[in-house]
Amino acid sequence: MLDVETLARKWEKAHPRVILQEASGLGLKWTLAMSFSREDTVILHWLSQIRQPVDAFWLDTNLLFPETYEFKDEVAARYPVNLRHIQPSLSLADQAERYGESLWKQDPHQCCYVRKVEPLFAALAGYDGWITGIRREQSPTRAHAKVIEWDAQHELYKLNPLALWSTEDVQSFAEANGVPVNPLHGQGYPSFGCYPCTRPVKPGESIRAGRWEGWDKSECGIHQ
Ligand code: SF4
Repeated sequence: MLDVETLARKWEKAHPRVILQEASGLGLKWTLAMSFSREDTVILHWLSQIRQPVDAFWLDTNLLFPETYEFKDEVAARYPVNLRHIQPSLSLADQAERYGESLWKQDPHQCCYVRKVEPLFAALAGYDGWITGIRREQSPTRAHAKVIEWDAQHELYKLNPLALWSTEDVQSFAEANGVPVNPLHGQGYPSFGCYPCTRPVKPGESIRAGRWEGWDKSECGIHQ
C-alpha cells in the first residue's frame, strides 16, 4: 500500500508533470479518465511523453455534445492513446422504457447513476489507480481534493495532478504547447458533460454554474 498522505504532502507543490512521472514509476496500473476537457487533454499530453500508449477511457453517456464526439476523434488521432470506450448497460431506449422518457429531466441523480457512476466501476476494474483532471478551484465540492488520495468507493488510488492549478494555468499551458482544446471551452463552457444538463456560464458565474441548473446537484457522482 502507498502512504498516500506522505505522497500527497510531497507532491502538493510539485509540477503536475513531475507528479505523473513519479506516479508512473510506482509500478502501478493507472488509467486516465477523459471527459475531453482542457484539463484531461493537458494530462494526456504529459502522459504521452512518459509512457506510450497512454491507457485512458471515456464514459460515453450517449448524450455528449457533438463537439465532444468530434474532439474525441481529434485527440485519438493526435496522441498515442488506448482510449477505451465505456458505455452504460442501458441504451437510451432501454432507459426510457425502464424509467421513463428523458430521465435527466425527472431524476438526474438516477440518470447519472445509470450512465456514469455504474459504468465507471467497469472502467476501473483491474486497475490500481485512476487519473483525473479535477482542480480545487472548480467547485466547493472539489476544494479539498488531494493530489493523490485513496478512492474508497472504487478501492483504488486517485491521482489529481492538476489539483492546485488555476484555469489560467491550464489555459496558458495548453496554448503555449499546442495542446488541442475542445471547442466548447471557447463557447462559454468552462465545464461540460451531457448536453441536456449543461448550459454556457454567464460572466461572473462559477465554473460549474452551468451544470444541472435548477437541481440541488453539482457533481455527477463519480467524484465523491
Ligand atoms: S449529466 Fe444529465 S444526461 Fe448526463 S448522465 Fe447525468 S443526468 Fe443524465
